[in-house]
Parts: sequence; C-alpha cells; structure tokens
Amino acid sequence: MKRRLALVLCALTLGGCAVTNTSYPSPTVSAPIAHLPPAPSAYNYTAVARAPLHSELFTCNRGGSNLGEIGLRGEASRYSPYMDTPAGPLLRTPTEAACLSSGFGWRDMSRRQHSGLDLANPSGGFIYAAADGRIVSADWRGGYGNFVEIDHGSNVRTRYAHLAEIDPNLRPGMRIPAGAAIGRMGMTGNATGVHLHYEVSVDGLLVDPLHFGLPPQYQATPVTQTFPDPITLPPPDGMQ
Ligand SMILES: [Zn+2]
Repeated sequence: MKRRLALVLCALTLGGCAVTNTSYPSPTVSAPIAHLPPAPSAYNYTAVARAPLHSELFTCNRGGSNLGEIGLRGEASRYSPYMDTPAGPLLRTPTEAACLSSGFGWRDMSRRQHSGLDLANPSGGFIYAAADGRIVSADWRGGYGNFVEIDHGSNVRTRYAHLAEIDPNLRPGMRIPAGAAIGRMGMTGNATGVHLHYEVSVDGLLVDPLHFGLPPQYQATPVTQTFPDPITLPPPDGMQ
C-alpha cells in the first residue's frame, strides 16, 4: 500500500514521464496497472464511448515550470478543447479524464525539454484519436511503452505513449475516426505514473498541444506616448 501511495505521489509531484531519447532505452516500468476500468471485449467504435469534450483542464498539483498560466482554481487559464491545425481541429486532451501533470517545454526539475503534454489519471481510462486520420504505427516503442501514432494529413501527426494497452485491431494504414478509442492510459515504458504522454507535430516540428494556435500570452501595449517638442536651450553665457 505504501509503495502504491508513493507511486501516486511520485506521479503527482514529478509529473510522469520525460522521454525525449531517440534511442528508446529499455523500459523501466512494465508491470500491469491495478484498478483500471474493465476493458471492453473489443474496441468497437459503436460500443466504446467516444472522446468527451473537456471544457476545462485542471493541473494535478498546481506546480511545475511548464504548465502555463494557472487560475485560482488550479485550471489551465488558456485551455480550449480544440486546437486549430492545417489538418483541422485536434483535441488538446484526448483522454477520458485527466489532469495536467506536465506541460510542453523546459522542465526545471528534470532539466530537460519535454516534447509533449502529460495528462495523468491514476485510474487510467480510455485514450482517443484526436482527429480523423490514418494509423502510422501501433506497437511497443521502448521508453514510450505502448505507442500509437496517427497521421491526420497536411503534415499533422499525433502520438500517444505509455498506454496500458492498444486496441488490438489497429493496423498501420487503417483509417481511424475522430474521437475513437485507441487504447487505455497506463505507465508502460519509461514512466513514473499512469499518464498519457501526448505529442503533436506540425510540419515535422513538435508543438505545444496546450497552447498551439493561441495568440501570444502577453500582448504588447500600443505606444500612445507622445514626446514634447524639442526644447531649445539658450546658448551658454558668454557665447552671445
Ligand atoms: Zn511526457
């Protein structure tokens, strides 16, 4: 019990994974996840719930160096359910239920760049396709654990890592409808807690799934100050 509590606390405080290696190290955690919701007998697009639209996203612990602007209730202030991309709208949080445990960008604690969002839920839950697309891969990727990548067209792709399980029917090349369940949240691969590591790439560049497409956080104030006319100084004494 203490060990489980420690794991949960670790997930809440450390914010889960940090996987930016391209060499895919051996997984450090691959144990089955306890207390997952019952799995469906098969991932059936008509039987499994579709992705919910979350109106808000709350942080898991209000702390962190890359969570963005946080409101008084612990909510991500600038959150919206969709991001606009060249491929159309994508879900920012393609999960059944989750809190934000780590954002995109530099993490002071690990002193590493984080290439996606960490969306955590110790109880697991379904993971959904962020938009219509084609499955690029659905397999094991070392540190990423059970991993799914979807191509949405227009050079937009999404990646889902650390899944407890992947829909066994997924095959590279098959079409996946927006909001369809593709797996369940877990901590396979290099992960310290149950969470989804979610990446979005546009034109080959990883972007911030939480803030992509939003205007800059701080707008420059228009310059309204006017300067007085130059002052004409009298010539120094003795020069007249
Ligand atoms: Zn992550």
